[in-house]
Amino acid sequence: MAACIFCKIIRGEIPSMKIFESEKTLAFLDIGPISKGHSLVIPKFHGAKLHDIPDEQLAEVLSVAKRIAIAQGVEDYNILQNNGRIAHQVVDHVHFHMIPKPNETEGLGIGWPTQ
Ligand code: AMP
Repeated sequence: MAACIFCKIIRGEIPSMKIFESEKTLAFLDIGPISKGHSLVIPKFHGAKLHDIPDEQLAEVLSVAKRIAIAQGVEDYNILQNNGRIAHQVVDHVHFHMIPKPNETEGLGIGWPTQ
């Protein structure tokens, strides 16, 4: 979709800190991280909400989110996925947040949502 910011990231029209890419899935660091390593995992297929995405694409997206957590050595984390404004969705391209929950002493153990 031409105007979608995440589609622009997929096409390389705006920069991102990519951490994984396959034919159907892309993962990159969130520009406004809640904690260190906060990542977004998206299907390359454009759809605004979860129900717009084919099941086979969702399976890979969730699998990538899991593997990023494993690769980062993260033990405690949230996987979050918002649908619609009331549910705090800002970007209308389906994305899963992988949010590491660091040790509280690091001062980053804040809640969700923050917007
Ligand atoms: P949501 O509220 O679930 O729609 O979350 C959208 C997320 O996208 C927020 O955490 C933003 O910080 C993030 N975001 C927006 N624009 C960019 C961008 N250009 N690169 C990386 N993350 C972004």
